[in-house]
Amino acid sequence: MDAGSSQEDLIRDSYEAIIGLEVHVQLNTRSKIFSTDPVSFGGEPNSQAGLVTLAFPGTLPRLNKEVVAMGLRMALACHGEIPRRQHFDRKNYFYPDLPKGYQLTQDRSPLCRGGFITVPVNNSTLKVALEKIHMEEDAGKSLHDVGATDSLVDYNRAGVPLLEIVTKPVITSPADAAACVAEIRKMVRFLGISDGNMEEGSLRCDANVSIRPKGSKTLGRKVEIKNLNSMRNLSHALAHDIERQIGLAEAGHPVLSETRGFDINSGKTFPQRTKEELQDYRYFPDPDLPPLEISESWLNELKASMPVLPELWFHRLTSEYQLSTSDARIVSDSREEAEYFEQLCAKGVRPKAAANWIMGPVKSVLNDKGWSITQFPITPETLASAIQLVESNQVSFSAAAQRLLPSMMVDADARPEILAAELGILMNTDMDALEMVVGEVIREFPLKVEAYKEGKKGIVTMFMGEVMKRTGGKADPRKANELILKKLGQ
Ligand code: MN
Repeated sequence: MDAGSSQEDLIRDSYEAIIGLEVHVQLNTRSKIFSTDPVSFGGEPNSQAGLVTLAFPGTLPRLNKEVVAMGLRMALACHGEIPRRQHFDRKNYFYPDLPKGYQLTQDRSPLCRGGFITVPVNNSTLKVALEKIHMEEDAGKSLHDVGATDSLVDYNRAGVPLLEIVTKPVITSPADAAACVAEIRKMVRFLGISDGNMEEGSLRCDANVSIRPKGSKTLGRKVEIKNLNSMRNLSHALAHDIERQIGLAEAGHPVLSETRGFDINSGKTFPQRTKEELQDYRYFPDPDLPPLEISESWLNELKASMPVLPELWFHRLTSEYQLSTSDARIVSDSREEAEYFEQLCAKGVRPKAAANWIMGPVKSVLNDKGWSITQFPITPETLASAIQLVESNQVSFSAAAQRLLPSMMVDADARPEILAAELGILMNTDMDALEMVVGEVIREFPLKVEAYKEGKKGIVTMFMGEVMKRTGGKADPRKANELILKKLGQ
């Protein structure tokens, strides 16, 4: 590292970044938030926009109860305080993709206030405090690059239900911000309220970021970076803008309060509009919708039907099943994977063995095929019998993973022990025969035995290789290893 860059590091280290996130999650209800129009991705433009969505005169909105139920599940998962009486406000502005001329959103009475999200970072967790969570409708989409000369508008997305999760400005690094969004995505997936797909826009993120000299208690002027559509873009955009803001501060220039975009190609943020240009939205309660009352009994019903969430899964996997923190995190990647793991254990598989199978052979199949575990053709029952063949030393792990599993994929109904026999991978478990081969090998290489006794412990590998060669690869490696060590110790 040259002097110049360490000087830069020194400057960077004298500042800290303060980040707040606004995450929009598209809820996977069947119909829109205020109409019966269907919600689905990729339909023909304007095929999912009826009269209410298009705001024809005389039409009235009607709140979709399922949207509130989904929102409340997230609010409960985040431990927020839920006001029992809420309403929707009109946020007035003009834009071609907004047919009504206003967006229905919860400005003054959010779905929930406060609460927090527990975010796993490295080997510990970070508690990210929330400002609020509110419900709102999405706008349509302006398409500027489809028509030959004109911009086009697709209203399919107008009225699609959104949950906006707003954190307090408490995150201090781009990596933590990305981890927080990842945890939100995981939570909505576990709750079954959204697919959390960032590429399709089901989860979109805006980030507020400011810098201040380390130790200062006041917040610097914040910059809002809009529409970050991947974890990578989020952390790159933040990292770039923090550098930019520090550069300005060091040069004695003020940081402007402004909204910026992120250009993926250059990896830089660019100005979109300044705070002075921000409009007054003239919020007021929507007179077309009655106030929303949330009853105690409904909340209790929702509480009783809450699924096990990532945080609790993590706890269960580390305490009840004694998995390491890193194993537990991978196994609880999705609710379905965690459930698959639990089913393997219920069939008597040792938890660590079940975890190894999910993290290793199973995940490699899923990655290979681009599947989720719900598409994995082998049932936990069948996989459990295959794992037990390995556990009882009848088939080696590598033969089971590389040969047995592919055969099982082809014929998911076949019994693993029959397939193993057909493949000829059942191991020779005859201890006497194995002991004979080991004894033979040890006798034939006296110089190697000498070297081992002088401390070259790595030589065991050579003996193993020789035993494997002579047994045609059918010896149980664990037993062979045991026997070799025993004989060498004599
Ligand atoms: Mn919003």
